[in-house]
Amino acid sequence: AKSAGGGSFRLFAPAAAEDPRARLELEAALRRALDDGEFELYYQPVVDTVTNEIVGAEALVRWNSAGGVVTPLQFIRVAEETGLIVRLDAWVLEEACRQTREWTIAHPERTPLKVNVNLSALQFSRSSVVAEVADILRRTGLPPQQLCLEITETGMMTDTELTITTLEELKALGVGVAIDDFGTGYSSLSYLKRFPVDIVKIDRSFTAGLGQNLVDSEILVAVVRLAAACNITVVAEGVETVEQRRALAELGCPLIQGYLIAKPQPASTFADAWRTQPPV
Ligand code: C2E
Ligand code: CA
Ligand code: CA
Ligand code: CA
Repeated sequence: AKSAGGGSFRLFAPAAAEDPRARLELEAALRRALDDGEFELYYQPVVDTVTNEIVGAEALVRWNSAGGVVTPLQFIRVAEETGLIVRLDAWVLEEACRQTREWTIAHPERTPLKVNVNLSALQFSRSSVVAEVADILRRTGLPPQQLCLEITETGMMTDTELTITTLEELKALGVGVAIDDFGTGYSSLSYLKRFPVDIVKIDRSFTAGLGQNLVDSEILVAVVRLAAACNITVVAEGVETVEQRRALAELGCPLIQGYLIAKPQPASTFADAWRTQPPV
């Protein structure tokens, strides 16, 4: 059951990260998968709460292993711990920029799509990160305004001075930056003022608490208000019900993402939904 590529269930179980032998096998399998091009991007729409328009998408990596589609939850941690995430993130960034550029060129009648790409904390802390992003933008021809990099709140907290410098350099390139999973780490609301970010993505645990948990709802209200005052756009993640969508629209949250609108979809499925949506 553990031979590489052969439907290796044990290999890809989340617990594999704990078992040293399984980890080594997973690392080797990831390396081969990168060499053999077994990764694919899925896209999840980001929607305007007022117009219902698909204004953007988050690119999420999937691994088409011989044993079936593997989700990032099963391999991102090992990829981070082994440093393989740097190669993976670079591939994801280039593929997302390339596909978004292609869709934009094919559909000049549509508002150019914004694409969000996750950057691991490791990638974000590398001194070459800004040059690498610039390089990929140049190679793919994607206008920087169409790219937004998502960095987790925790990823921004290790060295806040370096974080601010890197964020300013990325801003100078013209790309957007989002704080991902906001509210799950140890940062405080004051970081919305300190960090030059364009978007804050509120973690789905808060969305889940809407209308259920008074504190979660109040935190959401506070973040939406404060972000607006700091000129930051808010995306609420994990919207699963019409009640949550209505509540978010009422409290002035401009953008939402979640299974209610669509699960992450293969590129062609997403692109069809984007290009055929009614004009706004
Ligand atoms: P994330 O960046 O917070 O991405 C959102 C995750 O929430 C995705 O899981 C998405 O499928 C899921 N999601 C979206 N809407 C809903 C909803 O309404 N309900 C629920 N229950 N879940 C929802 P996914 O694709 O499995 O990715 C998991 C995590 O793996 C991501 O969390 C991100 O941290 C990481 N990841 C994914 N792709 C990449 C990548 O290309 N590079 C890096 N560095 N990390 C990635
Ligand atoms: Ca290859
Ligand atoms: Ca994300
Ligand atoms: Ca998130």
